[in-house]
Amino acid sequence: MHPHTDLRTDMLIDGDWISGSCGGTIPTYDPGTGAVITEVPEAGEADVAAAVEAASRAFESPEWGGMLPADRAKALLRLADLLEADADAFARLETADQGQPLGVSSGFAVPNAVEHLRYYAGWATKITGVTTPLSVPDVDHRTRREPLGVCALITPWNFPLMICVWKLAPALATGNTVVVKPAEQTPLTTLRLAELVRRAGFPDGVVNVVTGGPGTGRALVEHPGVAKVSFTGSTEVGREIAARTGHDLKHVSLELGGKAPSIITSDADIDAAVQGNLTGGLLNSGQVCAAYTRFFVDSARHDEFAEKLAAGAASMKLGHGLTEGTDLGPLVSAEHRDRVERYVAVGRDEDGARLHERSPVDGEGYFVRPAVLSGVTDDMRVAREEIFGPVLSVLPYDDPDELVARADATDHGLGAAVWSRDIATANRLANRVRAGTVWINMPPLLDAAASWGGMKASGLGREMGWSAIEAFTEVKSVWTHLG
Ligand code: NAD
Repeated sequence: MHPHTDLRTDMLIDGDWISGSCGGTIPTYDPGTGAVITEVPEAGEADVAAAVEAASRAFESPEWGGMLPADRAKALLRLADLLEADADAFARLETADQGQPLGVSSGFAVPNAVEHLRYYAGWATKITGVTTPLSVPDVDHRTRREPLGVCALITPWNFPLMICVWKLAPALATGNTVVVKPAEQTPLTTLRLAELVRRAGFPDGVVNVVTGGPGTGRALVEHPGVAKVSFTGSTEVGREIAARTGHDLKHVSLELGGKAPSIITSDADIDAAVQGNLTGGLLNSGQVCAAYTRFFVDSARHDEFAEKLAAGAASMKLGHGLTEGTDLGPLVSAEHRDRVERYVAVGRDEDGARLHERSPVDGEGYFVRPAVLSGVTDDMRVAREEIFGPVLSVLPYDDPDELVARADATDHGLGAAVWSRDIATANRLANRVRAGTVWINMPPLLDAAASWGGMKASGLGREMGWSAIEAFTEVKSVWTHLG
């Protein structure tokens, strides 16, 4: 028996809840038990088209297009209040559908979503242009930041509600309309949020949600009525979306995969680094794009660090996300569990690498015990490819001058960490490493005010802060002849 009796399982299009035109459905599972929670519609092309057309009409409507910025702000604040009031139910639903421990959903994901809504409510009344002193006689020049139109928001399964709101809040604050497509594995909190969007007073059609898998996502990206695609997910799908939006000349933002290095210099406080890296590597069982995955440790301290990391990981309690005391939940799906275990075997079988002892797992859910590999070298697959699970690779170094090049030796460039007692060393490394975000002596934190995004194959563009306002608007130049 599943405790959720008030699930929203149909799609929101133009203010109506509909079950889709093609009759197909997709099951969504509780990863902690493997049981089906419910099924949601698989949107076909006609559903996607209906959603985009509704969003286009809403964009042109006086109710939304003519809404004062202060009223957009109030609607976002109402949505934040509604989400906060329902935070407990949202956290439990996220845990049931995604698997993350309740402490993560209720202590991090849902509050972060609430804060994002409030932060962008504040921006709605502050989206200014500039006046420019042109070198032309008798003219006045000013710029306006205008919304783009219909934005397709396509999200992954690791933090479904939070990442949806990272996109939704700035898209609405700037006056766009949206069609959201949550990941097929984890649609439930997005559908529940859509219910609150209606109650917060956004006009029909401003926010639409279609459910489905890659085919639904592709139909949305390809629809000519979509002005912008904001995508978070894998680098592989990001490349496909970049190619398609490039051809169609649509705006695009891509938040893609990562393989964050964590550099522990010889003077670092090892115990603090172990603690911080356990959090950085194992939050949400490593299903975090910025998860710390490659630990570069001075060879004199490599074994000590690896032993302590393995002992810390082994002491974490694995269990269903809703069970009290759980530190690590299951992975999102059986398929992903099997993929991660294959990587553990690949790492174990590499010459020179050591897999630290792991106890077996029991239970029906998609559980994976953290795996610590030490003696890893830069050429090994576990050091190069994104695993997106609880697999931690420790790599010894002898020459600090090689650290930046080694840290950069992957296609990714999303996050990086540096641990050092010497602030000059730490900042020099932070400035040189190719990553969109660097954390010094701390686990990976996020804040709505801090720009977020990746270098290299980790993405294009930035979310959060003013960056997201720029990402959801374009600039118009207005000239006036004063003669
Ligand atoms: P995914 O790329 O498989 O899917 C992401 C979303 O895209 C899903 O909604 C999916 O249905 C949809 N999709 C799949 N194929 C599509 C296509 N051809 N066209 C349009 N849409 C399509 O990624 P995932 O497995 O859900 O998520 C894990 C990945 O997301 C990891 O690589 C992780 O690093 C990345 N991620 C990045 C960030 C970030 O901020 N940079 C945050 C979280 C996750």
